[in-house]
Amino acid sequence: MHRRPKMLTELPTDIIDRILTFLPDYRSLASALRSSKATFYVTFQVHPKSIIKAIAINIAGPTLPQALRRLEAQKLIEEQNGANHDYDLLTTLPDEAQILEQVSIDRSIGHFLAVNAQTVRSLEDLFSIRYKDRTSTRSKLDDEESFRFHRAMYRFWIVIFLEQLLDNDGEETQEIHNFLNQYPSPQLRQIEQVATFLRDVVSWNACSRNDTFDDVCYEWDVFNGPDHVLRSYQHGEQMDFHIDPPPIDFEMFDRQYHRAMDDIRRKRSLQYKDREEAILNSVTGKDDQCHRCHLVAGVHLWGLTNFHLFGNFHSPKALVGCLNGYLPQNPVERDFVIQHILKRDDEDNRTFNYADMVQEIFDLEQDSDGVWDKNNWYCDTCMMVLCKTRFTRWWISRKATLDLPVKEDCWYGYNCRTQRHRFAHAQRLNHLCEPTRGDPLPVIGQPNP
Ligand SMILES: [Zn+2]
Ligand SMILES: [Zn+2]
Repeated sequence: MHRRPKMLTELPTDIIDRILTFLPDYRSLASALRSSKATFYVTFQVHPKSIIKAIAINIAGPTLPQALRRLEAQKLIEEQNGANHDYDLLTTLPDEAQILEQVSIDRSIGHFLAVNAQTVRSLEDLFSIRYKDRTSTRSKLDDEESFRFHRAMYRFWIVIFLEQLLDNDGEETQEIHNFLNQYPSPQLRQIEQVATFLRDVVSWNACSRNDTFDDVCYEWDVFNGPDHVLRSYQHGEQMDFHIDPPPIDFEMFDRQYHRAMDDIRRKRSLQYKDREEAILNSVTGKDDQCHRCHLVAGVHLWGLTNFHLFGNFHSPKALVGCLNGYLPQNPVERDFVIQHILKRDDEDNRTFNYADMVQEIFDLEQDSDGVWDKNNWYCDTCMMVLCKTRFTRWWISRKATLDLPVKEDCWYGYNCRTQRHRFAHAQRLNHLCEPTRGDPLPVIGQPNP
């Protein structure tokens, strides 16, 4: 009978080699090599390339060729250093099919592969909860859908780099057209879908920031790259490329990408609507109904798992619009609500949590017929009905936690018309109260609305 090896050092070299190839990233590899020079380091030195490559596959998954090609495209374009060029970049860029043989992966490439893969995975989580399965914040895309998403994202990323290219005369090049035209139509539609999705993410961020930019600017911002789009979304930052105020006269499709895509679509007789379902095989719960009005709203229903996205579809300004009476036009109250929602701490992180707000609105009171219950799912229209009904009460209870000086109630409460146009009046009195019934008592100093 064989004695079972007790120590790592007793394991055969090929087993140790195998162990190293299963490591999830290069940081784990570095700690493994540091932890045991005699075992891991010595084995690693025998096959460094194959181990580094195996870990690259663990990082980028089956889309390693596309991920690697995206890095190569960036390198080639940066080498041009913004200068006009006179050769076809795509002939220099290794094919997806050959790139694993042509490019040797070192630690630095491995690092960027990991960073980009994390970006694409986070975007996939976001894509999943909005288009695939609303019940999970982690991606529920199946292997095939996930592969399509990652592949299309890396390919679109190359398009973004190609946008920066100009030819020798400073004119736009044909390269985006040539790049896109190499793909069969279903894969082209997948690229279109990730591009549209990135524009959605930009618009979600703008909405929660109370920005009033339009589709033109969303399109523009996408070309900052998926990493910038994700980061701006996560931190609620404004995108770098924003032009303020937005120009009113520039063409929505003033991008080589759009012109190339339009041209290819026309030549291949592709429909716009095809791109909507290019990545997903199926949508979970797509026939699910609203608990209150029974509208079939599927992935767009609101519930506990996606309340955090509510602000991406209902801006602070829209929430102010849910206040009672003439309160939405009260400049003091309006600005205070908006500032409260947009507030940031000393580290510039947002302090307001939309998911908490929506849950607190649900929790405000018991509903005997069970129409409003945060454990159910609601369509967008019904959610706005709920906000219209309860947002004022929620805001009163939130304000009570802020330790503000108490103001005298205006007799006319939220129905006061003066609060709209007399700033001093709006500032001096509280209007978050019910209008007073009957003849008001004559009190000195009481305003005459
Ligand atoms: Zn409904
Ligand atoms: Zn008043």
